[in-house]
Amino acid sequence: MSIPEALIADMIQWRHTLHACPEMAFEEVSTAQLVASVLRAHGITVQEGVGRTGVVGSLSRGTGPSIGLRADMDALPLVEKNQFAHKSQHEGKMHACGHDGHTAMLLGAAVALSQRSDWQGTVHFIFQPAEEAAGGGRVMVEDGLFERFPCDAVFGMHNWPGLPLGRFAINHGPMMASFDTFEIQIQGAGGHAAMPEKSIDSLVCASHLVVALQTIVSRRLPPQETAVVSVTQIHGGEAWNVLPDSTVIRGTVRCFSIATQRRIHALLTELSEGTARTHGATASVSYHYAYPATINSAAETDMAIVAATATVGAGQVQRDCSPSMASEDFAFMLNNKPGAYIWLGVDQDSSVPLHNPHYDFNDEALALGAAYWVALVNSRMGPGAR
Ligand SMILES: [Zn+2]
Ligand SMILES: [Zn+2]
Repeated sequence: MSIPEALIADMIQWRHTLHACPEMAFEEVSTAQLVASVLRAHGITVQEGVGRTGVVGSLSRGTGPSIGLRADMDALPLVEKNQFAHKSQHEGKMHACGHDGHTAMLLGAAVALSQRSDWQGTVHFIFQPAEEAAGGGRVMVEDGLFERFPCDAVFGMHNWPGLPLGRFAINHGPMMASFDTFEIQIQGAGGHAAMPEKSIDSLVCASHLVVALQTIVSRRLPPQETAVVSVTQIHGGEAWNVLPDSTVIRGTVRCFSIATQRRIHALLTELSEGTARTHGATASVSYHYAYPATINSAAETDMAIVAATATVGAGQVQRDCSPSMASEDFAFMLNNKPGAYIWLGVDQDSSVPLHNPHYDFNDEALALGAAYWVALVNSRMGPGAR
């Protein structure tokens, strides 16, 4: 199931081209053009503009099952600190999450599959925009992704610093947490800092609330339930001698089920309103359910394990790994279709974390990722398919 050398060279070239020209959420115009032109050059049917800047390539061999393989295309708002030839040419934008590699690997798999006839069915190559924060996966689903390109199952992959090159990791069930955001407006009454008795101090109230919010996970949820409540911003006050009228608290919540998301939302509202009342203030809470949790389905996880094993051998496939508390908008696709999301090891001499200004996708992983995609199609639609 190895990928031809010439195709590996092409993947490296596509990856470097994409890395040098990073495009952020729903701005992936030249990225989408590169994707569409490579797909078309290999006789793959292309639909552009799916979920705004998304692209779907479709390849059929007779009748049979239909699966979706998904890669994300967007970059991050980050100043790159690397100095190699393919570094970002767009100041303040960077492929620091490896989506350049994901796009190149799926293109490589599409080309490899277009040159093989040992499978039967339909593969939809889904190149999605705006994974990082804008929910491009949701936008594609809302744009009729699975009605226009019917899939029995859908599969995703992300490179994973911390996992050695040549290894895959996957879990039956949760892989990534949900992602919600909240904003709490504490309304007090502003006044002179020297006369607090004539004010309602929104800053003191907000300070109590930040501490109280930590009791949601530590005291109110069952200890077996994994969740994170993080306050990430407090804004209030501008002068040395003025108690501000109001203070805003913002933060994020991560967990693994919609029931826990709803429970945390309710507790956060209860604590905000109760703490504000205790201080004579009022609180208004806005809570945004951003991304659901990424949960693999059992049969498709088994299929992914078969494909990863065919690519790197059973000893290199880590099963039932611990899920990450980070989030992934592939979850919107898994909410609609059975499927599985897998991590691809990339560490060799060093490990630079995702979203770091020194990160660069490891080109040595391109052939492994593309081979996994081909093996996955083979495991579902090849001669030995179950
Ligand atoms: Zn990212
Ligand atoms: Zn990413």
